[in-house]
Amino acid sequence: MKITGIRTFLMHVGQPVDEAFKPSGGERGYFGGTRNWLFLKIETDEGITGIGECSGWPRVIETAIKDITPLLVGEDPTHIEKLWQKMMIAMMGHGMLGTVGGGAMTGIDMALWDIKGKALGVPVWNLLGGKVRDRIPIYSHANTVEQALKVKSRGIKAIKCGGVSDPVRKVDKLREAVGDDMDIAIDLHGAPWLTPADACRLVRKLEPYELMWVEDPIAPENVDGYRRIRDAAHIPLAAGERSATIFGERELIEKELVDIIQPDTGRAGGITQMKKIAAMAEAHHIQFAPHSGSLGPVAEYAALHLMAAIPNALILERLDDDWEGRKSVILPNPVQEDGSIAVPDAPGLGCDIDEDFVARFPSLGNVSNQVAKDSTAYAPGTWGEHLYVQTRVSRRQYFSK
Ligand SMILES: [Mg+2]
Repeated sequence: MKITGIRTFLMHVGQPVDEAFKPSGGERGYFGGTRNWLFLKIETDEGITGIGECSGWPRVIETAIKDITPLLVGEDPTHIEKLWQKMMIAMMGHGMLGTVGGGAMTGIDMALWDIKGKALGVPVWNLLGGKVRDRIPIYSHANTVEQALKVKSRGIKAIKCGGVSDPVRKVDKLREAVGDDMDIAIDLHGAPWLTPADACRLVRKLEPYELMWVEDPIAPENVDGYRRIRDAAHIPLAAGERSATIFGERELIEKELVDIIQPDTGRAGGITQMKKIAAMAEAHHIQFAPHSGSLGPVAEYAALHLMAAIPNALILERLDDDWEGRKSVILPNPVQEDGSIAVPDAPGLGCDIDEDFVARFPSLGNVSNQVAKDSTAYAPGTWGEHLYVQTRVSRRQYFSK
């Protein structure tokens, strides 16, 4: 079997096109249409097609894929590791990969696994060693009591809040509302990012709430800062969504700075890399909870296969209600029930996209707007609004419940 070509499908996600993209300062927030999904299909001379998805700045990645395609045409798509190494060597001439290079390799790698599974007539989880589990637990996002109770009423057993201006108060309210039988995580992502000193202060305050984890407490570049936070409180820490490949995740794992590693299924380098990252984490008793906050539904399928096959899979991030169009993009829709998703059993990844529906939403742009003014995030209207790292002011309010 030989690769004959790669087709890409870039789409705008969120509101209808005419309402979707309002450049910075627009009243709409993150979900107001700055998000893009990029899918690709690898075609072969035997008529088998593989599907993949890339995150990590999809509009830029689409160009990277067009550059890489000539290296892959004529190759046997079943030699996945060889092709991954070939792509890695070709791209690092531009410098280290980052999540853009990682994202390009991810979509291609994902599609190669899909082709291999289809060619052999087995689901991808079978190629990865077989199933450890039949269902994958999920968590959803909730920043208010109302949202949390709605998620709970749908049978979902874990939530994550984030980007918050009053983290202790928010967690306190959520815990009181949902009770002890629901897990809660908090994502402290910037910008502005917390300083390590403020993050230490905050994790101590959050310790009594028995959180599932505290995510990205400081900027991802400050790996050493994680040691200070780790020493400040006994609380599970999670990070890793902004790094790619085993090399990008290595330090967090080897130094045991996190309890949960969160590579993004759309930009960490593909199923090939995710399986290796999970194994590295397993050796350190670190759990695996893939980031999926901005991903589309094909990467979600890849995560289901992967999490079915690895022992240290914890829980999958899932925004199933972020945009009603999500359900129209993917065929078939994953079966979510009682807070978990059934692992797919069809050959390969077991999914396809509706190309006609995707074509109705052409990309208009793909940079994050400043956080919406009506959000509960820290930045808008504050001293730190345009800063990358900022010590929290109004400290009594910030660190009290
Ligand atoms: Mg996050």
